Amino acid sequence: MSKFWSPFVKDLVPYVPGEQPKLTKLVKLNTNENPYGPSPKALAAMQAELNDNLRLYPDPNGDRLKQAVADYYGVQPEQVFVGNGSDEVLAHAFHGLFQHGRPLLFPDVTYSFYPVYCGLYGIPFEAIALDDAFQIRVEDYARPNGGIVFPNPNAPTGRLLPLEAVERLLQSSPDSVVLVDEAYIDFGGETAISLVDKYPNLLVAQTLSKSRSLAGLRVGIAVGHPDLIEALERIKNSFNSYPLDRMAIAGAAAAFEDRAWFEEICAKVAASREVVVAGLEALGFEVLPSAANFVFARHPQKDAAGLAAGLREQGVIVRHFKQARIAQFLRISIGTPEQNQALLDALKGL
Ligand code: PMP
Repeated sequence: MSKFWSPFVKDLVPYVPGEQPKLTKLVKLNTNENPYGPSPKALAAMQAELNDNLRLYPDPNGDRLKQAVADYYGVQPEQVFVGNGSDEVLAHAFHGLFQHGRPLLFPDVTYSFYPVYCGLYGIPFEAIALDDAFQIRVEDYARPNGGIVFPNPNAPTGRLLPLEAVERLLQSSPDSVVLVDEAYIDFGGETAISLVDKYPNLLVAQTLSKSRSLAGLRVGIAVGHPDLIEALERIKNSFNSYPLDRMAIAGAAAAFEDRAWFEEICAKVAASREVVVAGLEALGFEVLPSAANFVFARHPQKDAAGLAAGLREQGVIVRHFKQARIAQFLRISIGTPEQNQALLDALKGL
């Protein structure tokens, strides 16, 4: 605290990201990264930028990437926003679309960045409890609101809300923006981008950090009605004229163009997920149905914090959240078959 701070900074509690350990030998299953590398075509596109173009400013509009996303989803480039990780995309959406004085609705439990953005931008919110099966109950959101946001699949539960339920939610709040945060959609869900032409209040955010294996590049996108996209552009351009660097634009565009690589690594992760679920269940864990690249599991007799600590001692790191309702769960990212086996072997002794 300093007298130089703007007053609101005193109450700001920043988001704490998952640990990025300095030791490299760990089996790192704590931040939902992809265990496989990015598309070789994305790497080549970045290398070309590195070799030839870094002395030049990037395209201030990121047109190449917007076009690649538009082509991939069959939308217009004017319906696409690109930013520095979906965290930044979400921040601009909160800033530009949710400051109406009415409460923003999101689930309790969900991505813990949402209340942070609310604090940053002075947005009132109501966190709505998940049902007993840790699922979002659409009917609970049919009330006056200044917007709705939720991850689909939800984080950290991994539970998917079917597209038909997303559509019901859109219909019940036609006068406010519904932001669907699809960070994990490619591992087993159906994107709501197919609905953007039908619902001008729908904004879908995605990331290249998970299914496209580019977490280190920091690229996120949003797709929606051009009016929503324009709000995000206005906010973004008021911060930084070049929000994505040349490598990010080129690498992310090439990643969208390389559909075969993307489909292959998503399928491998989804297949491994079923192996991990079966292995955990054989060890007595209860595992929530997951459509993501992680599973959320609890053991009826064993303390989750103790399990996380015991795994760490054996070089396997997973995520444990202290929040009361989920304190008995571990969130475990899906790794390579070898990493998954190392996890299961380590759990056997605990
Ligand atoms: N949304 C959700 C639900 C997430 O779990 C994450 C990853 N922490 C993000 C958004 C942000 O992803 P990124 O900033 O890497 O695009």
